[in-house]
Amino acid sequence: MKVLKFGGTSVGSVENMRAVMNLIADGNQKIVVLSAMSGTTNSLVEIANYLQKKNKDSARQIISQLEHKYNKVVNDLYSTPEKKEKGKIIVSGIFKTIKSFTSSEFNEVGENTIVAQGELLSTALFTELMLENGYKTVYLSALDFMKIDNDKAADSHFIRDNITLMLQNTEAADYYITQGFICRNAEGNIDNLQRGGSDYTSTLIGAAIDAEEVEIWTDIDGFHNNDPRFVENTKKIDQLSFDEAAELAYFGAKILHPQTILPAKLQNIPVRLKNTMNPSDSGTLISSESSSHGIKAVAAKDGITAIKIRSYRMLNAYGFLKNVFEIFEFFKTPIDMISTSEVSVSVTIDSTKHLNEIVSELKEYGEVEVDTDLSIVCIVGDMIAEETGFAAKVFSALNDIPIRMISYGGSHHNISVLVKTELKKQTLQALSNNLLNT
Ligand code: ASP
Ligand code: MG
Repeated sequence: MKVLKFGGTSVGSVENMRAVMNLIADGNQKIVVLSAMSGTTNSLVEIANYLQKKNKDSARQIISQLEHKYNKVVNDLYSTPEKKEKGKIIVSGIFKTIKSFTSSEFNEVGENTIVAQGELLSTALFTELMLENGYKTVYLSALDFMKIDNDKAADSHFIRDNITLMLQNTEAADYYITQGFICRNAEGNIDNLQRGGSDYTSTLIGAAIDAEEVEIWTDIDGFHNNDPRFVENTKKIDQLSFDEAAELAYFGAKILHPQTILPAKLQNIPVRLKNTMNPSDSGTLISSESSSHGIKAVAAKDGITAIKIRSYRMLNAYGFLKNVFEIFEFFKTPIDMISTSEVSVSVTIDSTKHLNEIVSELKEYGEVEVDTDLSIVCIVGDMIAEETGFAAKVFSALNDIPIRMISYGGSHHNISVLVKTELKKQTLQALSNNLLNT
């Protein structure tokens, strides 16, 4: 069985929902994961933020605009009076839940519950559309099988056991519709897999049911070899290995939620990125194989902070790196790049939540310098074949750009350079001109 995931734009209007219906209804049994209609999660986050600030009037205003929008969707989506009525009941039920938080104490559970309503709406409405059109469709609640643990990591055993059980116990159907993004946490409360998390849901489900393939349908035709928002003449990549795709997803290629690849890689399930607006295109296939050797793509990740620590104890000091890394571990702050010399180490982080505490603890071990507004530019490919000359090519392409840090040799798939964000566009373009479009 395949798992197909459709993003917010793909279900973002009545026309698009119909297009998705026509696309999936080919008689082959599948699980369909949907995001919220585009814009909805942002509105829900906004509502939650207002409630957090005790600004109930502003929250109520957005709630009523959103409810109005959904009533219109219901009116346009269905043709029969019965389904229009059913759609109205779905919408009013969900908005009743949202409104209940305007008159109670507000906490994190409230916030997560509100933010989850977008996917609950899109999937319930879409299921009714499928049924109205005579397709054998069953709605599966992700809240019954998607789970994260205390560290916010997906609980893959729970997911596998529970979705298997659910599929056994529900009536057989051709199409199973479920929510991306939402889950329960270790306490059993509603939670989510972070913004953009529907992609991750789809590979978690794919891994749990040993799917034949996971298809992630979005609004561009796959991974590009550079960022089309900043660089001209980018090309779609036909095939990537899991490792290459994971690096690209993590280092800024906005198309995929960064954790998406891991469950697929662990179970060796191919992932295909497809374009809802151009379904005949083969998209990008991500699998255990890489199509060719050499440099395939570049991507950039902004909002990076570099921290340099120069040891007080100078030469031959051991245990210095351990002490440094333990501080980051204690504050649950992941490190992206590392570069060391005999007496100092530079690392980059993208979460600055605990920056002040980290810096003050690091000062115990050395002089600390912090540099902000940086971008990691990541060059991805299969570089084993290009044993010589690879680094030289990258450096000569970046001849005119001051590089703050370099990471090379950590894997065969990646070389990363750290530059000022104001130089990102120039860096991407230089790499395109000299490495990709030659
Ligand atoms: N609806 C969620 C978001 O906007 C999840 C997703 O679309 O993947 O972040
Ligand atoms: Mg997305």
